[in-house]
Amino acid sequence: MPDQLKTQGLLDIESLPREAIEEILERARFFQPGPGETYKRLEALKGKTVVNLFFEASTRTRVSFEIAERRLGADTISIAAQGSSVSKGESLVDTLNTLVAMRPHAVVMRHAASGAPQFLSRHLTIPIVNAGDGTHEHPTQALLDARTILDHRPSLAGLRVAIIGDIAHSRVARSNVHLLAKFGADIILCGPPALLPPELAQLAPGVKLSWNMRDALAGADVIMMLRVQLERQYESAMSAGEYFRFYGLRPEHIELASPDVIVMHPGPINRGRELSSEVADSQRSVILNQVENGVAVRMAVLERVLG
Ligand code: ASP
Repeated sequence: MPDQLKTQGLLDIESLPREAIEEILERARFFQPGPGETYKRLEALKGKTVVNLFFEASTRTRVSFEIAERRLGADTISIAAQGSSVSKGESLVDTLNTLVAMRPHAVVMRHAASGAPQFLSRHLTIPIVNAGDGTHEHPTQALLDARTILDHRPSLAGLRVAIIGDIAHSRVARSNVHLLAKFGADIILCGPPALLPPELAQLAPGVKLSWNMRDALAGADVIMMLRVQLERQYESAMSAGEYFRFYGLRPEHIELASPDVIVMHPGPINRGRELSSEVADSQRSVILNQVENGVAVRMAVLERVLG
């Protein structure tokens, strides 16, 4: 069977076999720096060129990919859509074909259209790493989330994971559901009715939905908060204060969860909308560990795709 990661790259978690996920998570552990250390500098991708093409805003994902690429010895070029010929009306396929003609070895891409990397992978001869496509998937986020959970728990099987917020527009939620379901976690998705369409229960077997935050949090081992994707909502959204009152994570909620619960958020966080500062800055929060693990996981992915 052709190695999907080497031929197409990393397009999504849904089609990624469990063994490939395990391999990436294990390798990422090797890349994690010890206390006071920085990421290992290796030459695994020496002579390889990676183009980072971001058609949507990004801080942590783009920087994290760039650091990962450089730590593996690759040459990197980063292009933002503003300032590129995309703003002159060039089509996505033409932009990508132009870049590929310059012979990079892989493209890391973020795009607002769901399915854009899958579509392009049918036209390109080099692998694509999906850095987030619309509301569809954000595979490296789910991998770094899994790495972070496994730094605190021996296994994902049987863990109760509450994912709370704007599920409807969240590619982070979709990738996490696919990954966690492959490893037998119990997943509960929670958010306001307008942001929790019933069909999400079909994403993977055993996924439950709730509009009630207290029910979702009862006994949770992991709480994943999501940002309200204002840029993807066309209907009038709740005010920040109203949202926070019903779906904002506060210290009293932590009492409902398991005693050693961890609180996650893919960032960027909106204090006072999705979570309170007391929770974001508490001992329970592993938000900065997620960011840190992003580099190690992306090194593992890039090495697997290009090594
Ligand atoms: N950074 C994540 C993403 O790109 C989460 C977010 O933006 O809310 O999907």
